[in-house]
Amino acid sequence: MSREAVVTALTAPGLKDVVDLVVWVEDGAALAANHLGRVRLHADGRHEVLEGIDPVASEDPMAFLPHAREVAQAGPSVSTDNAYPYAAHRILSLFADADRSPDVAVVHTPRHFFPEEGGHVGEHGSLDVIQSRAPLLLSGAGVRRLGLLDEHARLVDVGPTLAYAAGVPRADLTDARGDALDGGPLTAYLEELPEGQPRRVVGILWDGAHCGDLLELAERGELPGVARLLERGLALRGGAVAEFPSVTLTNHTSILTGVGPGRHGVLGNVFYDRATGERVVPNDAETWHRSAEWLRPGVRTIFEMVNDHVPQGDSPRTASVDEAIDRGADYGTMTLLRAAGGFDAATSAAGGMMPQPEESPFLSRPEHLADPYFRWAVQVDDMGLQQVLQLWGNHRTAPTLTWWANVVTDAGHHGGGPRSEMARSSLRQSDARLVAFLAHLEAIGVLDEVTFLLTADHGFEASDPTVTGSWRPALDALGLPYRDEGPGFVYLL
Ligand SMILES: [Zn+2]
Repeated sequence: MSREAVVTALTAPGLKDVVDLVVWVEDGAALAANHLGRVRLHADGRHEVLEGIDPVASEDPMAFLPHAREVAQAGPSVSTDNAYPYAAHRILSLFADADRSPDVAVVHTPRHFFPEEGGHVGEHGSLDVIQSRAPLLLSGAGVRRLGLLDEHARLVDVGPTLAYAAGVPRADLTDARGDALDGGPLTAYLEELPEGQPRRVVGILWDGAHCGDLLELAERGELPGVARLLERGLALRGGAVAEFPSVTLTNHTSILTGVGPGRHGVLGNVFYDRATGERVVPNDAETWHRSAEWLRPGVRTIFEMVNDHVPQGDSPRTASVDEAIDRGADYGTMTLLRAAGGFDAATSAAGGMMPQPEESPFLSRPEHLADPYFRWAVQVDDMGLQQVLQLWGNHRTAPTLTWWANVVTDAGHHGGGPRSEMARSSLRQSDARLVAFLAHLEAIGVLDEVTFLLTADHGFEASDPTVTGSWRPALDALGLPYRDEGPGFVYLL
């Protein structure tokens, strides 16, 4: 069978430095294999070793804590020194889409450096705990002041928590068919809230912000905005576990719909759709505004959930700032882009509407502007803050739910890897925008009335420039027709 040939080729000992795991689904169970062995992962948590030793021996979501341990043991070179939280559930979700799921998914080793195929100094996408660990802070009105907790949640819990805090009753946190979501509201961290009363909630995403480093910098006083949120709430040291793959658009969609990729349909930043024969690239400045086209019919966004419970007036009930997954939001950056015909069309038509990054008051290290992605991200995030301040210009017209995505943190971590000066300056920059927003809320007298949630869509690990190579020659040698999207999603044709 051709899948077996692919698995055998990819688990050859010669590829062990670049292939961490090969995963797939067979007879309703998740399978994982590498050069050490093969295991069947049952949904009830059982590990049935089929060959050799269990390559996914640990699923501990709290692995590599405290942060000093992560730093000391960065980039595990064998899977038995790593951890893969919720492995069965996350693999099963990735393989639940009949048309878009690959036949096998290949997980890069944490150290694999593959610039020739789109890889960076800092990378994410793996099933492993560090690339899957996003920060999670809750703060402000209705949040228990518990400080730092040795606990974790999942990113599919974030959207339901935002919607619940905004006043959507628990019974209405469902998909479009009325089915339960994969995640649920994190009520253990909230005070008893009267159900069904709209309250102002702001969800903030710092793309790719590293959980451990963010909390460490906040404790050291280098992120005063985060520290201010933490004083009025809590943060989970284990963060929130991303869906697999731990890539951007898959997890933005999981956050904002409360379900995994097998239900929402955005399987990766790049995937293939067998039904249409189309290669879909949803995570691109030119396609972000089209994201709703790829959502599966059963999905409901939290903007749609909240809108169902807030009377419509003259001002937006829900706002989605710089976020691709904005279906249903009364205000959406992408709605404006759709109207203008896309990102490039919008920015060129506006004749330099994008602010000059050199002039950004939030940029502390101008040398980072030499990286084109970082440079663009500074512009996008400056415009994001402008939009948020405008939406909150007057507390009477401010949205019930505001979702505010920031991107420079992803650029900083890709460019320099976690804990690098570039990554840290990107965290400080995002924090400076947060400080400006909090100061504005204080000035208009509403700071204490707002509930905040700060998170990211995935974590990051640093690659090792000496660990190079590709599994592509091994696949080519099989002589089977295939596509490898990502790379890592292998489709047999
Ligand atoms: Zn991301």
